Amino acid sequence: MSGNSSVIANEKIDPSKVAAAAKIILDLQRELKKYIDKGYGPFMAAIYDADGNLIARAANNVVNKSCSNNHAEMNAIRLAEKKLGTYDLSPYNLSLYVTSEPCMMCLGGIMWSGIKAVYYGVPSDKVTKITGFDEGFKPNWPIEFTKRGITVYGQIETAAGERVLKDYVSAGHSIYKPEK
Ligand SMILES: [Zn+2]
Repeated sequence: MSGNSSVIANEKIDPSKVAAAAKIILDLQRELKKYIDKGYGPFMAAIYDADGNLIARAANNVVNKSCSNNHAEMNAIRLAEKKLGTYDLSPYNLSLYVTSEPCMMCLGGIMWSGIKAVYYGVPSDKVTKITGFDEGFKPNWPIEFTKRGITVYGQIETAAGERVLKDYVSAGHSIYKPEK
């Protein structure tokens, strides 16, 4: 498996989890390109159950829906909760996969949703460097997730993810954020 030598986790790294996540995240990166062409933001998330069934998938639509909290993770969580008819996803043992590290809002959204594991692609420092998006203040968040029983794996297939972000910027798409 290429591109996963720098994977980090808040548990002993399980290569089978990395391999499964890499497949899903690469697929999301591919799908995301089509969404970007339709005016969506450059982030995409999906939620799967423990048997590998897709529960929800969504791209960021902050700009095209005029909503600042429509990040991919929030959209996917909203869809999953609607589909399952609950505000508490914890009994379902769900994992969230996302093309880049969640921002500070989405970390909160993930914690309150009952999601049990998070797998992400490009780390926030790279997202900020490439795009200029503000990812917020979130020191040592994987440790906070450990305390809450949420598994974290990050920096999965980062090269593919960085390419999508660079293409988004070079195509001149919006770097949306509030003015200071
Ligand atoms: Zn976010």
